[in-house]
Amino acid sequence: MREIYLDNAATTKTEPEVVEIMNKVMLEDFGNPSSKHKKGVEAEKYVRNAAEIISGIMKTSAKEIVFTSGATESNNMAIFGTVQKRKRYGDHIITSAIEHASVREPFLELEKQGYRVTFVETDNNGVINMDALKAALDDKTILVSIMHVNNETGVIQPLEDIGSTVKSFNKDIIFHVDAVQSFGKLPVRPKKYQADLLSVSAHKFHGPKGAGFLYIKDGTGIEPFIYGGGQQNKMRSGTENTPGIAGLGKASEIAYSDETQMKIQHLSDIRTDFIKSLESIEGVRVNSTASDIFAPHVVSATFKGLRSEVLLHSLEEEGIYISSGSACSSNRPGLSFALSALGLNKTEVESTVRFSFSKYTTEDELKVCIEVLKEKVPFLRQFIRR
Ligand code: PMP
Repeated sequence: MREIYLDNAATTKTEPEVVEIMNKVMLEDFGNPSSKHKKGVEAEKYVRNAAEIISGIMKTSAKEIVFTSGATESNNMAIFGTVQKRKRYGDHIITSAIEHASVREPFLELEKQGYRVTFVETDNNGVINMDALKAALDDKTILVSIMHVNNETGVIQPLEDIGSTVKSFNKDIIFHVDAVQSFGKLPVRPKKYQADLLSVSAHKFHGPKGAGFLYIKDGTGIEPFIYGGGQQNKMRSGTENTPGIAGLGKASEIAYSDETQMKIQHLSDIRTDFIKSLESIEGVRVNSTASDIFAPHVVSATFKGLRSEVLLHSLEEEGIYISSGSACSSNRPGLSFALSALGLNKTEVESTVRFSFSKYTTEDELKVCIEVLKEKVPFLRQFIRR
């Protein structure tokens, strides 16, 4: 059956060139980067090369990249590592109300441990309220963690403004950015945002699962999260995942090639048309319309009177894959914070789905999706219990 994959914010198809380099690392260049012989030196080159590619893209330095098992680890490392190192300077930490669970949960855990946590509110587009952020900062604030692009709605945060607000209040406050949904789609420049820490996961831009990195600005004191053999300048012990790291490097290179970036640009256009077509279906409201504050690859839409899971499975029957809310939060009961921030009530949240695109998404696929929706939605509505 024809498959139309519109769940790219959950994960993406691995790039063939990524698989190729990972195969080579596993089958031929399988040495341990810490080994002193030729096999080790060869393996180490992949790690260095990936760090150079990534830092070239972000205009940072290769030694500021620490490879991890993905953004959940990077986010945990950033948050717990900062607090562990800086707790003597203060007990107050700030994040937004709409972060991914891998940021939200560490904050909740730290709250249990006695830290004061502020979840800064957003406006009704989901953009951080700068006045609320300013009001939250105090002389005991040690960490601010704000995501770049939200995984459920695609809203983009004004990181330059946030960074300058935080740093002009106190330059010693650590500013962490979860850039999982932006890396590969938008420019990601930690220095512009005055970010000290920034997390990325490879599988969101056609790299392998279980590989990612944390950018740690030179001179930023954070406590390591994992202790052991002292790899990666003691910041992340454990034999490096060389196939994953090589794949991450290759995926980053491809993601920021001119060819891919042109395709991503094109996504903005097809997204606009897709939104128009969605809105022409009765009882459908798109929650992420404005193209200047929403990323090009996410469309969140509420289908009045339909449960999102029902729609999801009904499209699945036609080989179309979408998400109800976000894949990561669908394991966790409770209302989506990102959607609630947009002003959606419980029923509306439960009727909201996410379509997310990649460079492989075509106009034709989206047209087919719309046709299927036009057929299915009125049909499914007949079965609503009133
Ligand atoms: N942050 C955001 C915004 C995400 O979308 C995700 C993945 N859904 C993560 C963090 C966690 O990434 P991973 O599951 O690869 O660790």
